[in-house]
Amino acid sequence: MIDQTEALTSIDINTGGFVGGRNFHDTIFKTNLEAAQAIARQLRLRNLGGIIVVDFIDMSEISHQESVLAEFAKALTLDRTRTSMSSFSQLGLVELTRKRTREALASQLCEPCPTCDSRGQILTARSICYEILREVLREAKQFNPREFRVLASQTVVDLFLEEESQHLAMLGDFIGKPITLEVANHCSQEQYDIVLM
Ligand SMILES: [Zn+2]
Repeated sequence: MIDQTEALTSIDINTGGFVGGRNFHDTIFKTNLEAAQAIARQLRLRNLGGIIVVDFIDMSEISHQESVLAEFAKALTLDRTRTSMSSFSQLGLVELTRKRTREALASQLCEPCPTCDSRGQILTARSICYEILREVLREAKQFNPREFRVLASQTVVDLFLEEESQHLAMLGDFIGKPITLEVANHCSQEQYDIVLM
């Protein structure tokens, strides 16, 4: 599990399954050895820089700890980027620093999502319908157009034509003005315009 924050990257190793029985210590040892190699590879692939904290699975045997560190150090020598490594801290963590070079992979290949503004979620079409109704009401108190034209995404317009048609009609009656709908293909679900005609 690699978790990247602005300040540091933390890497957590888990066995990914049931560990038990007589070979408990061996399984943990082998998992940590494999992880040491995998981590060194991932650091290169993702070009992770700065402080990296690795939380290996706790190993009681000192010889196992030493072997894992040695394996890790060996795997890190393949790295052309300067890397330095601590030994196990009292909490069982290994700290690395890796020189930051070109930007990390995620920021090279990705950009903020314009649809959700990088929140990862967008308001439902129904929420947008209600937002539009409130906005029309607000504007009807301030302005006196002949008609209000709502420009919105297909989904929002569809909802107004079907399930929300009564609310739209009620608002139209209340303000005494027609409210018309128009699909605006450039609008994402959250975007709309209210045009005063
Ligand atoms: Zn998004």
